[in-house]
Amino acid sequence: MKVNQVELVISAVRPEQYPDEQLPEFALAGRSNVGKSSFINKMINRKALARTSSKPGKTQTLNFYKIEESVYFVDVPGYGYAKVSKSERAAWGKMIETYFTSREGLKAAVLVVDLRHAPSKDDVMMYDFLKHYDLPCVVVATKADKIPKGKWEKHKKVVRETLDLAKGDEIIVFSSETGQGKDQAWNALKSRM
Ligand code: GDP
Repeated sequence: MKVNQVELVISAVRPEQYPDEQLPEFALAGRSNVGKSSFINKMINRKALARTSSKPGKTQTLNFYKIEESVYFVDVPGYGYAKVSKSERAAWGKMIETYFTSREGLKAAVLVVDLRHAPSKDDVMMYDFLKHYDLPCVVVATKADKIPKGKWEKHKKVVRETLDLAKGDEIIVFSSETGQGKDQAWNALKSRM
């Protein structure tokens, strides 16, 4: 998809704040620092998207981006940040559970993981959570530019096995540096719209 128009419609915490408009929607989740913002920026041809801080202590929000008046990307605050308090973690959990279980236009989740390493415990928990609610999931294994192409398949297999990937879900090898996987990622989303 050739993206020209992107608008941050709202940073929401509660369902009343979600946009009313029903467009196909994709939720983007990933561990803090995994490369989720870079993935989103690459997909929509932006250098730096407006983003609220994911640092602990700041209000964590679901950021709804409308793309080409035809699809929403919802940036879910990152998880696995060590310095987050118990209460912040609980608030995050409640917010995303409410979102994932109530949002009608949601077509799939995009789970961003690091191709270099086996998915973390938090990644596995996130994936299990999505599967618990029967949500289709596109796994984006990013930072592919950091390992030789000849090793991609081997690493992809580790990601697949560690997550115990469900039938119908796919893994896309991606790099925000080179644009590797961008067309494939858009095709995966389009096929679920
Ligand atoms: P977020 O916290 O998940 O949104 O992560 P960011 O998108 O801010 O990325 C975290 C760090 O990883 C930054 O320094 C990025 O430049 C770097 N990064 C993200 N994606 C890639 C990638 O595909 N390749 C490489 N080499 N670095 C990346």
